[in-house]
Amino acid sequence: MENMEKLMEINHVGYSYHTMQGETPALSNINFTVYKGDFLAIVGPSGCGKSTLLSLLSGLLEPEHGSIFLSNAKLTQKGNGSMGYMLQHDHLFEWRTIEKNVLLGLEIQKKLTPETKEMVLDMLKTYGLYKFKDARPSQLSGGMRQRAALIRTLALKPEILLLDEPFSALDYQTRLTVGDDIGAIIKKEEKTAILVTHDLSEAISLANRVLVLSKRPATIQKIVDIAFPNNISALERRNSPEFKDYFNQIWKELNDNE
Ligand code: ADP
Ligand code: MG
Repeated sequence: MENMEKLMEINHVGYSYHTMQGETPALSNINFTVYKGDFLAIVGPSGCGKSTLLSLLSGLLEPEHGSIFLSNAKLTQKGNGSMGYMLQHDHLFEWRTIEKNVLLGLEIQKKLTPETKEMVLDMLKTYGLYKFKDARPSQLSGGMRQRAALIRTLALKPEILLLDEPFSALDYQTRLTVGDDIGAIIKKEEKTAILVTHDLSEAISLANRVLVLSKRPATIQKIVDIAFPNNISALERRNSPEFKDYFNQIWKELNDNE
């Protein structure tokens, strides 16, 4: 890791929500570094603060304590072009065709040019969606929709992809194939990714590091390095003998925490 380029530094970050009902501490003393090309998975009990952490990393929320640096500059809340966000729901618009949906971000950011449009159409071709470019989202399978949502995010050329349980609305079988598929696209595009998931198998099959959070207020309980040979697929990871060792190790961390 030491010879890799640092992209983000999260230093002593803490965050609480303040409402009429009082204070909800969500995160406490979070420290980690994100390196260029990292695929980081974040796991932890439900309600522990995972989505809050992603919102802080995206700049949507500002840390109450500590600081977040992106490429050595303090992260600010105003328009962060380096971040792409992908959520559980694909947020594709039914009244737009797939082509119009994947071009939407570029349109909004006034970056739609013949060149950027061609780049996006090429991505539709590479990832098998070109023949559906005139279809409506409802005509696509859940997996194809997630792929379209990822292409829409990649169209803006984000440096870092933040994924908040993007497969959890899919049924188990689909989730497996779509998770592997989206993971392969992210690797091919050489993006840095931070994936929140409650699915340990998903984390181990995709990530090179897994951050295990404690229950709320979340602290980092453990960072587990996942060392599989380069360029083996998510499916090959799932079928390899080390897989269950990682699973048991992280499972134990999560349960020690109860
Ligand atoms: P996770 O994604 O791990 O399930 P969240 O980050 O969504 O957890 O939430 C962490 C805690 O903060 C939860 O207890 C949740 O109820 C609380 N919380 C989340 N968003 C808000 C908000 N906007 N206002 C008040 N409390 C919130
Ligand atoms: Mg969440």
